[in-house]
Amino acid sequence: MPDFADFRFPLPVDVALRIRRMGGGLELKGTVDGRAAGECGRCLEPVELPLHLELAERFDPVLGRDDPLGQNNVLHGDELDVADLIRQLIDSALPLTLACSENCPGLCPECGRKRDGTCRCPHPE
Ligand SMILES: [Zn+2]
Ligand SMILES: [Zn+2]
Repeated sequence: MPDFADFRFPLPVDVALRIRRMGGGLELKGTVDGRAAGECGRCLEPVELPLHLELAERFDPVLGRDDPLGQNNVLHGDELDVADLIRQLIDSALPLTLACSENCPGLCPECGRKRDGTCRCPHPE
């Protein structure tokens, strides 16, 4: 899995997929498991989060043009670009910003240290 946005993938992402033909389209079911690594948006410490997706997608080449899924270009004629599809699904499942914890105090604007006791600057709250 290539890196994208602010995320890296330290381990291979496990993908288990079953693809079935449904009428003129394809039905895709499976799971994606892995770990995504990024940085806390506030203190820049490394953060890892587990990744688990349940997939249940349908692709219909005939209706593809009006289907929002048709716009993501994963279906090229009869061929499904699975890697690209997985990438897009992971992308939409990941949070926009990461934080090491919900109440991460972030970095001190004055000394640049984490505001968890390491920083001794007086801070008006
Ligand atoms: Zn943090
Ligand atoms: Zn400080």
